[in-house]
Formats: sequence, C-alpha cells, structure tokens
Amino acid sequence: MIISGWGRHPKVICKVVKPKNIQEIKRSMKFKCIARGNGRSYGDCSLQPKLTIDTKNFKEILKFDKKKGIVVVQPGILLKDLLKFIVAEGWFVPVTPGTKFVTIGGMVAANVHGKNHHNDGGIINFLNYIKVLNHKKEMILCSKNKNKKLFYASVGGMGLTGIITEVSLKLKKIFNSYIDQEIQIETSIENLLKLLKKKSKKNYSVAWVDLANFSSSKVNSITYFGDHSKNPNFKLKVFENKFSKLPNLFNYLISMIVINSLVLKIFNFIYFVKNKYFFKESTINYNKFFYPLDGLKNWNLLYGSKGMIQYQFILPERTSLKGLKKIISFIKNNKMYSYLTTLKFMKKDPGNLSFPIKGFSMTLDFPASEKNLNLVKHLDKITEEFKGRIYLAKDARMSSDFVNKQYNIKKFSNFRAKIKKENYFSSIQSERLKI
Ligand SMILES: Cc1cc2nc3c(=O)[nH]c(=O)nc-3n(C[C@H](O)[C@H](O)[C@H](O)COP(=O)(O)OP(=O)(O)OC[C@H]3O[C@@H](n4cnc5c(N)ncnc54)[C@H](O)[C@@H]3O)c2cc1C
Repeated sequence: MIISGWGRHPKVICKVVKPKNIQEIKRSMKFKCIARGNGRSYGDCSLQPKLTIDTKNFKEILKFDKKKGIVVVQPGILLKDLLKFIVAEGWFVPVTPGTKFVTIGGMVAANVHGKNHHNDGGIINFLNYIKVLNHKKEMILCSKNKNKKLFYASVGGMGLTGIITEVSLKLKKIFNSYIDQEIQIETSIENLLKLLKKKSKKNYSVAWVDLANFSSSKVNSITYFGDHSKNPNFKLKVFENKFSKLPNLFNYLISMIVINSLVLKIFNFIYFVKNKYFFKESTINYNKFFYPLDGLKNWNLLYGSKGMIQYQFILPERTSLKGLKKIISFIKNNKMYSYLTTLKFMKKDPGNLSFPIKGFSMTLDFPASEKNLNLVKHLDKITEEFKGRIYLAKDARMSSDFVNKQYNIKKFSNFRAKIKKENYFSSIQSERLKI
C-alpha cells in the first residue's frame, strides 16, 4: 500500500503488516523492516518498502500505579487514549509533542520534546525502562542502569535498534485539566531570544513567529507561557476533539483553499493584532494549550497535492542570534512563506541520536514544491555554518554528508553494525542517510 509520514512527502509503496502479538512480529521479521506508530513523523523515518510493521494493535495499558504515577504501556497506544485514562486519575504525560495523535512507541523512538524542554528535557528523562525486540528476536529490557547502550541508542534511535514493545513512564501530577496561560509580544528576534531564555515561573513556553509580515525589518512574535493550574475550583476532565462525519468532503474542501503569500500575511496580521490588543491572561483546557492543531483534522492537506516539509533545526545558544537572523533574512529575501513558524529554547538531552542541544530550535512549514525543496538546501548550509542540526523526526530530504556533521553517527553506527549485518531495522530515511 502507499503510505507516507504526516508531510505526505514522500509517498511510498510499502508492504505493511499489522501484527496482533509478539509471535506475529517475530514471524514477520524475515526481511529488513521498520516499526511504524501513527505516521505522525513528517518524512520517511517510518517507511520501509520491504516491510513496515504497524504497531497500533499493541495498545494495552499493562500497569498503572496511581499513587506513584507510573504507567506501563504497549507501544502502539495513542497518546490521546493514554491521556483519556490518566487525566481522569490526576496525572499527565511529563513531555508532550504538539499533537496527541502519536503513539508512545513513536514518542520514545524520536525522544520527543515539549514546551517544557528547557526545564525538563525530553521523554528520555522520564522513562523507567523500555523493552526492545532486537534483530535476534530477543526481548531486552533496557534503562539508564541496565543494558545502557541499547537504551541510549534506542531512545531517539528512530526504530533502528529494534521494535520497542513496552514502555514504563513516570507521569506528572495534575490537580485539574486546565493551564494558566500568559502571553508576551515581541517585535524583534533579539528580544524574543532574551524572553525565551529568561527563567519564567511557568514551566511551558513556545513562541509563534510571523515571518510573513508586511514589514521587512520587524519579526513579530507571540510567546505563550503556561503551567498546570492548581485552582481547586477546576475539575479533572478529559478533553477530546470531535470531528465531523464528513471527512472526505471536508478534506477535499480544505485542499482547495489556496494559501498564498497575501492570505498568509493577512492571516498573520490579524492573529498578531488580536493577541496583542485583545488577549488577557486566561485559563484554558490542556487540549487547547498543547494541541491547538489537532482541532483541524488533516490540516496537512492545506499544503497541496505535493505535501509539505517541516524544517526543524536547532542552533547552539552561542550562534543562535546570528544564525537565526541569517535564516530569517534568507527566507524573506527568497519569498519562502512558512505557514507556521515556532521557536523554543531547549537544553541538551542524552541519547545517541537525540535532537536537542542547548540552544534555540525553530520549526518552519513549507509546501513541498520544487522551489522550496531547492531552497531548503541553502537553509542546510546556514544550519551547518552555525553548527546546528535537523530533527530526524521531521526530515525527508537531508544528505548523509550533512547528517554526519550534525550527529555522532559513528557511535550509533558502531552499535548498529551487528544489527545491520542481519539486514534488519532500516527505513528509507536510514538508507538515505547511510546510518
Ligand atoms: C502536528 C505535529 C506536532 C508535533 N510536535 C512535536 C513536538 O512538539 N515535539 C516533538 O518532539 N515532535 C513533534 N512532532 C513529531 C512527532 O511527535 C514524532 O514524529 C513522533 O515520533 C510521531 O509518533 P508516531 O507514533 O506517529 O510515529 P511514526 O511517525 O510512525 O514513527 C516515528 C519513528 O518512530 C519509530 N517507531 C514508531 N514506533 C516504534 C516502535 N514501537 N518501536 C521502535 N520504533 C518505533 C519509527 O520507526 C520512526 O522512526 C509533531 C508532529 C506533528 C504531526
């Protein structure tokens, strides 16, 4: 069948199996293969034409210690379903990406980061252990203390060390389902970086950045700060998205909306002005704070038939200001319109292929047009010049030379050498990047 990541670029014919138990996974492991969660990574990391193993049948909650806030789950459970269960019990995940339509296995394999990364780091910091089914079809329990090498290679390892079959996760206590939110407006990149770095009392922060505005010199931004509310008047309540029953018609309508530079400029202008003049401090539910995009089903169709690429890079703190300025002026000069741009401050994470280093990370969303695919190669050069790196969970196009300059691929490859011999666990991404 033809499958893709969330960016819908590339789309590839893959043999996909959806095993019901571990025996079925083992039996299917005759070819090189890769695990797939919910396909919410943007590029080609969850695609293997020979054999892609859909893990979504593994969706059980195996144990839950309500007192200590520890949950043990199978990898294919969707974050939205885990939240449904734990929020009602007064717990939340300690790290969450910007969508709840991901699997826990996918979150671990990408070592996902959230809006609290500058304080708490990635999901790797909250794992008691994981179990990995390796190339010899052995089930190995690994953690920071046991089978360490496998643990640090697998968390953030993009499925290349084996299939994660069990995850034990420490949760975060919450008292209700709401987030106290504040915002702050800035109009220059210098001030935005200072603001994001400043120690805030709120644990979560992320900036929305307008790179399509009418002024060529200003960089308008809105930074959202938030923390779990402790107000006893609010209740623990599960929030979900309700989608219309007309998905196909809706999808076609969405894909027909033409987003051009003018539409984007006007949209961003209204959004900025609305927040600048009319926003007050507010308390909103966790769904609105963490997952605003989940409200619009299949928003990835807005980018047209060729799909989209998300360019997420991080630059070390010391080079961030200069590097971001260069990237922003390149984007503006070349009329590359990013539909959605965000900026976060992050700290370094452990894990051989983990993305986060201490510095600033920007995400840019572009339609996957030929023009943009060529122009992002220049963004690679600037990222390289300023010693940055690209997030593998968003990548669909980097070169192997470039990835070697960013990550300690040698260390990872040495570990993987034995696995490679058996020809197991490789994706289109790992083959392209020669990992
Ligand atoms: C709207 C949106 C917002 C996002 N926001 C963020 C964010 O804020 N922070 C962030 O870090 N990421 C973010 N992401 C990226 C997303 O969190 C990751 O790509 C995540 O890995 C997707 O999980 P998935 O279940 O869809 O995995 P897939 O996309 O199916 O797979 C991703 C990788 O995980 C591997 N994998 C999946 N399951 C297993 C398993 N059981 N065993 C071994 N390997 C496995 C796959 O081989 C692949 O390499 C966002 C994505 C979207 C679409």
